[in-house]
Formats: sequence, C-alpha cells, structure tokens
Amino acid sequence: MHIQFLGASQEVTGSKYLIRGKAAGLDHCFLIDYGMFQGGREADTKNLAPLPIEPSKLDFVILTHAHIDHSGLLPRLCAQGFKGNIYCTPTTAALLKIMLLDSAHLQEADFERAKRKQLQGRWKGDLPTPLYTTLEAIDCLAQLEKIPFHHRFSPAHGIYIEFFDAGHILGSVITAVDIEQEKGQFHRTVISGDLGMFDRPLVNNPEFIEQADTLVIESTYGDRLHRQLSETEDELVEVIHKTLQHNGNVIIPAFAVGRTQEIIFLLMDLIRRKRLPHLNIWVDSPMATSVTHLTEEHLSELDDSASKVHAWYLKNPNKLDLRFVADVEESKALNRIKGGAIVISASGMCEAGRIVHHLKWNLPHRHNAIVITGFQAMGTLGRRLVDQAKLVHLFGKEVPVKASIHTIGGLSAHADQAGLIRWLKGFKTAPKHIYITHGETNAANLFLKAIQSELGWEHVSIPNMNTTFPL
Ligand SMILES: [Zn+2]
Repeated sequence: MHIQFLGASQEVTGSKYLIRGKAAGLDHCFLIDYGMFQGGREADTKNLAPLPIEPSKLDFVILTHAHIDHSGLLPRLCAQGFKGNIYCTPTTAALLKIMLLDSAHLQEADFERAKRKQLQGRWKGDLPTPLYTTLEAIDCLAQLEKIPFHHRFSPAHGIYIEFFDAGHILGSVITAVDIEQEKGQFHRTVISGDLGMFDRPLVNNPEFIEQADTLVIESTYGDRLHRQLSETEDELVEVIHKTLQHNGNVIIPAFAVGRTQEIIFLLMDLIRRKRLPHLNIWVDSPMATSVTHLTEEHLSELDDSASKVHAWYLKNPNKLDLRFVADVEESKALNRIKGGAIVISASGMCEAGRIVHHLKWNLPHRHNAIVITGFQAMGTLGRRLVDQAKLVHLFGKEVPVKASIHTIGGLSAHADQAGLIRWLKGFKTAPKHIYITHGETNAANLFLKAIQSELGWEHVSIPNMNTTFPL
C-alpha cells in the first residue's frame, strides 16, 4: 500500500490523501478527505486538476469532517464518476447538507455575477468555472454513509476503519485505518484530521490513540501557543462590560460553523457564572442559525459542560435574549439599534455576508466594539481592521473606523504546538513514520523540530504535494 499527498502539503487547505495498493491480496484505492483549496491565486487551478486515477475506480472515501477545505470537492468527484460510499459520522453528514449546498450556491452566484459583468463589458479574461452545481451537491449527499464514533467497520475486503473524536468541530474524527498486509498482519495508519484544543468550551478533547505504524498529523498552529481560555474570558468580559456601559453595540464577526456556537455557549456560561449581566444577543447568519440548532440536537456528543450550560439556559430563559435573525429585512432592522446589542454574524473574515452591513453601521461610532475571534487572512477586511486601518471601503463608500477593535486570540478550533505534542504523547511507542501536513511551511518545520526535541521521535517528514510514500 502507498499514500499520496494530494493537498494540504505545506499549506492549510485542499486536504486529500490517496491510499492505494493491495489489502488481503486484492487491489484497492480510496481517499481520505477531498477538500477544496482556498485562497491564493493557484487555488482555482488546483481545484480543477484531475485525480491521478479515474474517480470511477475509487472504492470509497473517508471524510474526517465537514469543513469545506476537507469536503468541498466531493460533489465534483461524484459528478466525475465516483459511485462509492463516502463514510463520515452522522453529524458530519448533517453539517454537509448545509455546507455543500451553500458552497454550490456561492459558486453559482459567483459565475452569474461574472457573466452579468461580462455582458456589461466589465469582466476581463475567462469566466470562473463553477466546480459543481447545486444539483450535483444534492446527488453527492446520497452517497454519504453514516458511521458513529468507535464503530469499527470494513468498507472493503482486508480494510478496517474506526473513527475517534478529534474535538475540532461537531462530528470531526481522527481516523484509524487498519490494512491487512499479510494474513492476520495489519498495518495501522492514523490520520489526525484537524485536531482541536484541549479544555475548550463546547467540543470534547481530542481522543488519544495508542498505536500507529504510520501517522499523518496536522500542524496549522504547530509553531505557536494559544492564549489560555481564562484570559480569553477576561478579555471578552471586559470589552462587553465597557461597551454596554457606554451604550455601544458589540459586533462579533464569526465563522458560521463552530465559532458562532462556541461564542454563544461561552456568553451563556459567562452569564450563568454571573460574570456578565443579561445580554441581548442576535445571531445574524442563516448558516450559523442552522448549525446552532444542529448543535443543540447533538449536545450529547459534545463536552459535558455544553449540556450543563444549555440545561441552565432552558431553565433560565430570562437571563439572556438570544434571537436568530430570519430574513434580510430583520437583519437591516438591527442597524437601527443604537446601543446594547451583541451581534454575531458571518462571514468570519468580514469579506461578505451580513456582517459587512453591521460593520458599515457600527464602525463609525466610538462607543461600539468589534470583537475579532478567528484567524484573519491577509487581504481580508477583517485583517485590515486587526491591522488598525483608520478608514475602510464598504459598498463603494469610505467608512471611518471609530469603533474599538479587539482581537480575542484564545478561541481556536486547532490545537497549538503544546496541544499537538500532548496528543502525540498518547502514543505508547513512536509511530514508524510521521508525516506532517495541513500547515504552512514554517509552522510544519517548527512542529517537526518540536517533535524531534520534545519526543525524540525519528522518521518525521513534511511531504511535498503529490509525493507518494509506502505504508
Ligand atoms: Zn477543519
């Protein structure tokens, strides 16, 4: 058997690994994740690149979690002839229904917008190629096969798979793949997927795995340490207190999946612990609303503290007003609120969506606060705010930045270096081969050095894109 790294090699997006060769004497090939490349000029070209094998020849796909950089090209794979099962947890399947349809919709909308501009003579060059349509995304959903955590299954002769909780987002898994190489002799490959932080609100801690022959591990924050949750809580409490005292609004741009729910639960918990007063919270993003309701339905899968906080909220509904904004009119009405509102809205990097409207209305007033809770990529509006721009351009108009901008660093869905090393310490012996993926070159390099110096493990490498290694 061999593993080929088709994405997330010295970068954080486009996760996809191809495993092929003989299991129990028969030829097999399958994919772990089939994610979209995002950001950067080369992303479009890489997303259009064909697989090294015919999609119809793939036996099955394992999906670690619903994030688009892990799942986003699956509809394209199915449309190109892949007919097998896509194995994932039931919650990942539920999330995909929301996320893949949204992804298809965005691509169709981008294409239509470009076509309109071309007709008006305002588009240079080729039109963007939609990677798939909404119908293709719907067809792909029919190929999902739901497998719960800790349920060992055999998707093909001589291959056994088990999912463990990765503690990254709802439904996310660490995957253990046991391949029968000779009769009764198994080779275990463990794919970390995206690993969450230990001791965060909402999600569980990542589960420890004791043994692997080959390990593929992510390294998004392999080069740094996150702030403690207690510091994050202190910062959030201070900003909210101060802003409400001066009758300002607190605007929180947040990723619709994961981060929004984490913030809602954190705010609820801070009120429960009497660190914050009664709050008026609006969640203004249709996707965030759907995912929050989904989270409430799956509380039993999450950290015990999440169920405790939610139970408290159900018993004390008057302690906060949590409203989910339904339509655009209601969203616009929010802009008339002059103070005392907490608005959580997407997109997380302030590039599109309803958050841009909230920023337009709230940035020019000094009593308001903007709380940035997630990674802001270069070139995004969120990054310009973090970098203390005094003026931004929104909807063709200049908007002065008078509101205070706060970056709350401790809420990350990815483990930091200490978290990754702590997880690695769960292995009883060093895996024979370790491949570091899903991190920019610098993060991956520093993480490699940390593994060598702190654990003394050898045979650690950072694969280049498209390279193949034996299992
Ligand atoms: Zn992820």
